[in-house]
Amino acid sequence: MIEINHEVSNLKGVGPLLQEKLNSQNISIIEDLLFLLPLKYEDRTQLFDLEKAPIDHRCLVKGKIIDSKILFYGRRTLQVIIDDGTEKLKLRFFYFSNNQYKQFKLNETVVCFGLLKNNNNKLEMIHPEYKILNIYEKFKTEEALTPIYPVIDGIKQGRVRNLVQQATNIVKFSDPKDLIPASILDELNLPTLKTSLLTLHSPPKNIHIKNIDEELITFKNRLSFEELLAYYVSLKNLRKLALRKNADKLYQGEMRTEQFINSLNFKLTSAQKRVTNEIIDDLSLPRPMMRMLQGDVGSGKTIVAAIACLKAILNKKQAAFMAPTELLVQQHFESLTRLFEGQEIKIAILTGSLKQSTRKNIQHLIQHGKIDLIIGTHALFQDGVIFKNLSLIVIDEQHRFGVKQRVAFREKGTNGNSHPHQLIMTATPIPRTLAMAAYADLDTSIIDELPSGRKPIKTLILSNNKRKSVIEKIKIACQNGQQAYWVCPLIDESDKIEADAAKNRFQDLSDRIKSIKIGLIHGRQKNKDKEMTMLLFKEGKIDLLVATTVIEVGVDVPNANLMVIENSERMGLSQLHQLRGRVGRGNRESHCILLYKPPLNTIAKERLSVLRDSNDGFYISQKDLELRGPGEILGKKQTGLPQYRIANISRDANLMPKVQKTAEIIMKNFPNRTNDIVSRWLGSSEKLGKV
Ligand code: ADP
Ligand code: MG
Repeated sequence: MIEINHEVSNLKGVGPLLQEKLNSQNISIIEDLLFLLPLKYEDRTQLFDLEKAPIDHRCLVKGKIIDSKILFYGRRTLQVIIDDGTEKLKLRFFYFSNNQYKQFKLNETVVCFGLLKNNNNKLEMIHPEYKILNIYEKFKTEEALTPIYPVIDGIKQGRVRNLVQQATNIVKFSDPKDLIPASILDELNLPTLKTSLLTLHSPPKNIHIKNIDEELITFKNRLSFEELLAYYVSLKNLRKLALRKNADKLYQGEMRTEQFINSLNFKLTSAQKRVTNEIIDDLSLPRPMMRMLQGDVGSGKTIVAAIACLKAILNKKQAAFMAPTELLVQQHFESLTRLFEGQEIKIAILTGSLKQSTRKNIQHLIQHGKIDLIIGTHALFQDGVIFKNLSLIVIDEQHRFGVKQRVAFREKGTNGNSHPHQLIMTATPIPRTLAMAAYADLDTSIIDELPSGRKPIKTLILSNNKRKSVIEKIKIACQNGQQAYWVCPLIDESDKIEADAAKNRFQDLSDRIKSIKIGLIHGRQKNKDKEMTMLLFKEGKIDLLVATTVIEVGVDVPNANLMVIENSERMGLSQLHQLRGRVGRGNRESHCILLYKPPLNTIAKERLSVLRDSNDGFYISQKDLELRGPGEILGKKQTGLPQYRIANISRDANLMPKVQKTAEIIMKNFPNRTNDIVSRWLGSSEKLGKV
């Protein structure tokens, strides 16, 4: 008997070619097909008389062909007219073969399913699905709603549906293993796996298309729940594994660390002190630290990380500090060099853009322990980089890297059974439920306080019509010694177009304001040029910096206290908050002007006003989650969240507390199920936690 953990090739009609196509979409066993849920459902249970068929709905109709011809106005079109005795209906096809044309013979009967339109009082369907009936063929309507599956490259909808139906039939006559114990399902009021799969793939006959989403939600939740559970368990396993490794006990150098902290030209906030102690405690233990440091933009995470690095170095070990952009790497290099002046610490940069020979040289120095602190992009963890004795990895702005990458970094520093400590920093305050899903393997420290003396940033929302007066304001402010950013819009994630927009804006502003110095920075410039521009801006030799979103993360120029952001209505709230965090770092009052292109719809208005009314990153990200969903919160590309098959974290975030509780119970009372749960959902290809 075929079972759901057998390969898809066991299904009827799956030859090597189709199997390959399915495999390329991560569908290798029958179970994978079952987890491919319908995107939506269609009602083909009722055959309508044309006269009574619902306009603007997708519906099923039938009629005799009374006319069929190819028309050539503008566009070659196949037009077929059918009549069912109550009305006529025009079918139009723009893409068709000669064979198709020949099929539509006069007097044949055709059944169509499609969107019924009323075009100038004539009924019409464009590209309906159709079937021409044989003379003796009796047409039968479907008994239940028809599931529509996501497109799989090169496989027709009907074929996918057939495969899933075969898979569903196997479930019907077998008992797929429910990995969540029955007692827990009962308590949570969740249906079994079998019921959920059968219901979702062939909804019961009595469900009406109008209520389908509500009727099916419990069954979908059941699957999301198990998927979230699988990820949670695997992250927890990962943690358990890592904690079994050894790590260097970094306990020496207490005095010098203390001296260093006292020598700073500011006093640590009490939140900074608290998290620093948490970190120092972790570092002194013989097992690897796995800690996430969360803190709003400007809360002063860098200095905390610097103290951790110093600790490693005072224990005669190496530390690696990783940041997502070259700009940020450069900035960290400068500020850490300044901070560690007089400490006899050897610091170097390693990024992808270094010349081959320089890179080789630095790698050599790292390998021989001639460098204590190495700052770089992810080039730090590429092959060929061998550390002499790496004992601490700091990852800044973690949300730019995914879960898998994070796990890979951890592997990288491994030396035998010894693991480096890991400090992961993020300024994107993540709502608690999301953090639970994405960072279940980490301890958390939170800096919940800004350095004193900071004045909250005043945020204004202005229409593009006010651009002239905004420019005037910026001009006057800059003439009076203030500094400003002008941020150009994010365009389709293409740095070329984005860079062009910034160049144009730079030109435009330079033409309009002659009395101040204007600079330009964007992702397409050479690193040397970017560095130069940042340096000039930092030294006050540039008054107004026109920038793309390259300055989004980390850039720190305390004297800059004005920011204009164009097309703010198109950005995520958390991204805007990050950008805005570039100002408000000194003790002068700061302003941020959000320009938008009118008209602004209600949601967009609400979103921008959240930003105007709050400076609290946690609150803002929670609102962003409610208004847009997590992909948007953390930037489109990298959410730091896994790619789920069924779960949708913004819809299902509310399941997380229960997921967490269930995971604890299963790990404790049913430990031998954890492997099965993880491998069912994460498969072998995507092992997060090899258990
Ligand atoms: P983020 O948490 O966004 O990475 P940074 O570490 O870049 O923040 O710190 C922002 C600015 O605040 C820097 O200029 C830093 O020197 C300064 N800073 C950090 N801690 C304090 C403090 N306790 N008091 C005053 N200024 C501080
Ligand atoms: Mg930072």
